[in-house]
Amino acid sequence: MNFDAIVVGSGISGGWVAKELCERGLKTLVIERGRHVEHRTDYQDFATPWEVPHRGRVPQEEINEHYAIQSQCHAFNSATRQWWVRDSEHPYATPKDRPFSWIRGYHLGGRSITWGRQTYRMSDVDFTANKLDGNGIDWPIRYADLSPWYDRVARFAGISGAIEGLDHLPDGPFLPPLELNCVELEFKRRTEALRPSRRVTVGRCAHLTEPTPEHTALGRGPCQMRGVCERGCGYGAYFSSLSATLPAAKRTGNLTVVTDAIVERLDYDHAKRRVSGVRVIDAKTGQGRSYQARMVFVCASTIGTAQILLSSRSEWFPNGLANASGALGRYLMDHVFGIGARGTHPGFLDRYYYGRRPTGFYVPRYLNTTERTDVDFVRGFGFQGYSERSTWHRGAQQAGIGADFKRQMRTPGRWEMKLVGFGEMLPRAENRVTLDTRRNDKWGIPLVHIECTHSDNERRLAERANQDAVQMLQDAGFENVTALGAPRAPGSAVHEMGTARMGHDPKTSVLNGHNQAHDVPNLFITDGSCMVSTGSVNPSLTYMALSARAANYAADLMGSGDL
Ligand SMILES: Cc1cc2nc3c(=O)[nH]c(=O)nc-3n(C[C@H](O)[C@H](O)[C@H](O)COP(=O)(O)OP(=O)(O)OC[C@H]3O[C@@H](n4cnc5c(N)ncnc54)[C@H](O)[C@@H]3O)c2cc1C
Repeated sequence: MNFDAIVVGSGISGGWVAKELCERGLKTLVIERGRHVEHRTDYQDFATPWEVPHRGRVPQEEINEHYAIQSQCHAFNSATRQWWVRDSEHPYATPKDRPFSWIRGYHLGGRSITWGRQTYRMSDVDFTANKLDGNGIDWPIRYADLSPWYDRVARFAGISGAIEGLDHLPDGPFLPPLELNCVELEFKRRTEALRPSRRVTVGRCAHLTEPTPEHTALGRGPCQMRGVCERGCGYGAYFSSLSATLPAAKRTGNLTVVTDAIVERLDYDHAKRRVSGVRVIDAKTGQGRSYQARMVFVCASTIGTAQILLSSRSEWFPNGLANASGALGRYLMDHVFGIGARGTHPGFLDRYYYGRRPTGFYVPRYLNTTERTDVDFVRGFGFQGYSERSTWHRGAQQAGIGADFKRQMRTPGRWEMKLVGFGEMLPRAENRVTLDTRRNDKWGIPLVHIECTHSDNERRLAERANQDAVQMLQDAGFENVTALGAPRAPGSAVHEMGTARMGHDPKTSVLNGHNQAHDVPNLFITDGSCMVSTGSVNPSLTYMALSARAANYAADLMGSGDL
C-alpha cells in the first residue's frame, strides 16, 4: 500500500500528527514498536481494590529483576505494571556516577495512558529566555505562532482550568475548573494575601469536566473522579491517544496502524535529499521490512527519536541523519524534580472533600517574572500541590493489624499538604544521548548511552525552591514542615526533551521553526526532541500544539507540491 505519510510512535505527539494528517486527507501509517492496546477492555480501571495484586505493590524481587528504573515513577504499581517497559529487556547505559532515569512504556498510545495530564501553556517568558540570558539558542517561534494551535488542541483534548489572566501562564478555552478543597483554599487565601505576586490556581488538566459534542462524538464521557487514571480510563474522560486522537484519525478512513514494529533506521536518498524508507524489525519474529511514504514524522519520544536518527548513519550523514549541525542527541533536558516541601495543618478537622479529584493546585512561576528579586540563578520554577487527609488518603497502602490499627483506620487523620517543584533546566551541549558502540539490544540495535547532569544553576534554583516551599507552608499555618531535599536524577520528572532542537540556524539546530529537518525536507520531528528550552511548565500540551502545527504545515507543503 502507498502512504502519503509515516508517523513513528503513537504517543501524545504521534497521535496528534496522525489525527491532523488523516483529517487533511493524507493516507497515514503509524508505526508503533509496542503491542496493540484496545481502549477500554485492556485497562484495569474497574478492578476493585481487593482484585489488584498485592494491594498495588509489586513484589520487591520483581522490581529488582525487571523494573529497577521504572519503579521510581510514582505511577508504577501492580495495576499499571503493563504500561512500563521491563528494564531487563530494554537496557540503556549511563556513567555509573551520573544516573539518568529513562521512564517509558512501549505500547499503542505510549505514555499518553500513564501521564499526569497537567496541561499548561508556555509563554513569551519562555520563548524569549534563551535569547535574553544567552543560555542556549533562540527559539525560532514566539507565543503568537503557537497560540492558535494551543487553542485548537485544548478544545479537542478538553482542558479543565480557571481563567487567571496571567501573561506568563496564558489561559485557554477551558472546560469548567475542578474545585480546591478547604485547606487548599486557605493556602490560596493566605499565600496571595501575603505575596500578591504568587498565584494559587486549581490545576489545569486534560479531563472532561463537561464534555462538548466534539468529545462525545468520539465516545468520551465526563470524569468520574475515581482517581485511578494511570490504569487507563474506560470512560475516555482524560485525553490519551487511545481515547481521542487515534479514534479521530481512524474515522477518516485514512489511518493504518502497525504495532510490534520497531523502527530501526531511516534510509536516505541523497540525490533527492529525502528520507526514502523506514526500516522496521518485527518485535515478535525479528524479521526486517521497510515502508515508504512521501514524508516521515518521527515521534518516538525524545530519546527514542535520537536513537533512530543516530542509527540512521550514511555516507552523507556519518553522525546521524539530519545531523549536519552536530546538535542531534545533545542539549538533553528534563525538569528539576524532587524538590519542594510538605507539612501538616492543625485545623479543619471537621472537614472533608468529595471524590478523588484528578488534579491539585498550581503555583505558576513567580521568580524572574512577577517577582524580580536578586537571585543567583536564571529562570525559575512552579509548584504543583495538593492537600489530603493523611490516613484515609493512604488507605489500602497502610500495613497493620489489631484493634489499634482498626481505630486508626476509622479516623481520617490530619490534613497534609505537599508542594512539588518543577524547575527549569538549561540546555547544555554535554548533556547528550549517543549510541553505545559495543552493545546492542536483543534486536541488534545499538543501546542508547545517556549522559546528563545538573549544573550549578539547577542546584541553586532547587535550593531556592525548597526554601520558598517551606516558607510558604509555614506562612499559611502549616506545622511539621520539611523540605523535600536535593533534586532527583535527571529524567525523574519524565519530561525529557531537547535532542533535536529547533532553531533559526542550520549550523546549530536540527529543525526549523516548523519542526522540519533543515537538512532533509521530508523529515519532521514533533516530540520533545524539538524543544529549545524547558520552561517551567509540564511540556506535553506544547508537544501537542507543535505537532498539530507541523502536521498542517507539512500537509500544506504537500498540497502545493513543495514536498
Ligand atoms: C507518570 C507520568 C506522569 C506524567 N505527567 C505529565 C503531566 O502531568 N503533564 C505533561 O505534560 N507530561 C507528563 N508526562 C510526560 C508525558 O507523558 C510525555 O511528555 C509525553 O507522553 C511525550 O509524548 P511523546 O509522543 O513524545 O512520547 P510517548 O508518549 O512516550 O510516545 C512515544 C511512542 O513511540 C514509540 N516508540 C519509541 N521508539 C520507537 C521505535 N524505535 N519504533 C516505533 N515506535 C517507537 C513508543 O513505544 C511510544 O508509544 C508524564 C509521564 C509519566 C510517565
